[in-house]
Amino acid sequence: MKSCPLIILLCQLLFLAQSFGSKESNSPNIILFLVDDMGLMDTSVPMLVDNEGKPKRYPLNDWYRTPNMERLAKQGIRFSQFYAQSVCSPTRASIMTGQNSARHRVSQFISPEKRNAGPNGWRWEGLTQNDVTLPSILKQAGYQTIFAGKAHFAPIGHEGEDPTKLGFDINIAGCSFGRPGSYYGEDGYGKLNPKQKKRAVPGLGKYHKTDTFLSEAITLEAKYAIDQSLHKKMPFFLYMSHYAVHSPFHSDPRFADNYKDSGKSKGAQAYATLIEGIDKSLGDLMDHVSSKGVAENTLVLFVGDNGSDAPLGSIHGYSSSAPLRGKKGTYYEGGMRVPFIAGWAKTGKGNSFPVAKGALHNEQIGTVMDLYSTILETAGAKNPSDHVVDGISLLKQLSGKTNPDRPDHFMCHFPHSHRSSYFTSYRKGDWKLIYRYKGKSKYVLYDLSKDPFEKRNLAEDEPEKLKQMTKGMIAQLETENALYPVEGENMLMPILP
Ligand code: CA
Repeated sequence: MKSCPLIILLCQLLFLAQSFGSKESNSPNIILFLVDDMGLMDTSVPMLVDNEGKPKRYPLNDWYRTPNMERLAKQGIRFSQFYAQSVCSPTRASIMTGQNSARHRVSQFISPEKRNAGPNGWRWEGLTQNDVTLPSILKQAGYQTIFAGKAHFAPIGHEGEDPTKLGFDINIAGCSFGRPGSYYGEDGYGKLNPKQKKRAVPGLGKYHKTDTFLSEAITLEAKYAIDQSLHKKMPFFLYMSHYAVHSPFHSDPRFADNYKDSGKSKGAQAYATLIEGIDKSLGDLMDHVSSKGVAENTLVLFVGDNGSDAPLGSIHGYSSSAPLRGKKGTYYEGGMRVPFIAGWAKTGKGNSFPVAKGALHNEQIGTVMDLYSTILETAGAKNPSDHVVDGISLLKQLSGKTNPDRPDHFMCHFPHSHRSSYFTSYRKGDWKLIYRYKGKSKYVLYDLSKDPFEKRNLAEDEPEKLKQMTKGMIAQLETENALYPVEGENMLMPILP
């Protein structure tokens, strides 16, 4: 039988048109669930491994209650070695640009009212409309881009303070600062209390004078924005960025009873309620996309923005992030290791790529820079060819495999003063160098394979390794065009041992 070539051609064209049309509507929805100041150990999910590479529980895993993180971890993969910068704004700019903080130069937290101190050229004014940003690319690719919660992209009066100037279609409660005046609806989230007014969370007026906790109000509004996207039949990118668990540590009354007999301090108890509140938000969003029938087509990426700030003890010791050393703002692992859990909101045939189930990935690192490339690949969107990116897509690692192309280094460059000051922390393979620009004792060297909790400084015992690591760090700083700390008129360049 002869077929008419014209009919075959028409059929092919129709098929192509259908597959092209359906590609867009089938683009996965993406929820980037970012928790402020949540460190690796602030969860009941065991995130570290024992000597055999099996998940190992530590006391903090038994202190926190996070059933929905457990649920996501069960249907997805989590990383034991995922790195963020040591404070907020550098990480947030890395997620938006895919670049390391030494390169994008938003290297310190942004002070809302003033130029925070740092070397000339550090981007204290934050992100602008001229920056290539993740949401602006997704928007061009047909996504509805939703911002919800803490933005902290730029100071007051600078264009980047408004997330809609940086590529988001919708802004729920985002502004220039990162610390909310109040978590309580009764306070109008700061607006109704003269002492907190300076840090009043914008919007959310309909929850003022109610008992709706801030994390809950933002979640409810995010669900409403998701519905709008689904109604328009647009895939959505929800940047769900909770103000919690940043200070002030206001106790969330919904969960306070769970901790009241613990014997721990009021602050530690309140912090645990904030953690449980964002855990509920995670569960609510997963339930919501399930109820809308889009859970199998919704990828959830759960992550913290810097090490834990739990009010549990000394800054540079073993407390907030135990057994890891240090906390938010420090150059130890506790300053920059964060939880990362990735999974489909529901596993099934609708998942457009595989994510390993119940897996704990310990073979390789991941970083906050990688989220940019991971989300673009998930969305089928492209990074502009002239935009340099330091991260790499995690999709291969999410499938449970190792990625031979994945770099094995992470650098946190901090030419500023804070809890740990004027340092570069450089991890390469199993080794970690902390270089301190001021003072006499410049080098700290750890072998994380034998000493994961940073107890034994090998800088004097391993001179060759120290030199090799310092050379590697200097090369990386140069590659990323880093700015160096200044002392008086002098720029402090890193020195080889
Ligand atoms: Ca933070």
